[in-house]
Amino acid sequence: TYVVTDACIRCKYMDCVEVCPVDCFYEGSNMLVIHPDECIDCGVCEPECPAEAIKPDTEPGLEQWLDVNAEYAAKWPNI
Ligand code: SF4
Repeated sequence: TYVVTDACIRCKYMDCVEVCPVDCFYEGSNMLVIHPDECIDCGVCEPECPAEAIKPDTEPGLEQWLDVNAEYAAKWPNI
């Protein structure tokens, strides 16, 4: 899965949302998250983010953001 990280906070460009083929972005008041069970790992969104906030979960050190994405994707509205 791909993960939205802290670079998205108070940013929320929506370029990623436009390109995601499975609409797995969810929106809260200050950032977006990716639903880890819905993401198909296509990677299309990563280069679209002007803030470079989207990373593949294969990158080290993203455990905290994986938890944040999973927790909030379950609570926030799909966009
Ligand atoms: Fe959507 Fe693909 Fe990005 Fe996953 S990697 S959030 S499926 S655009």
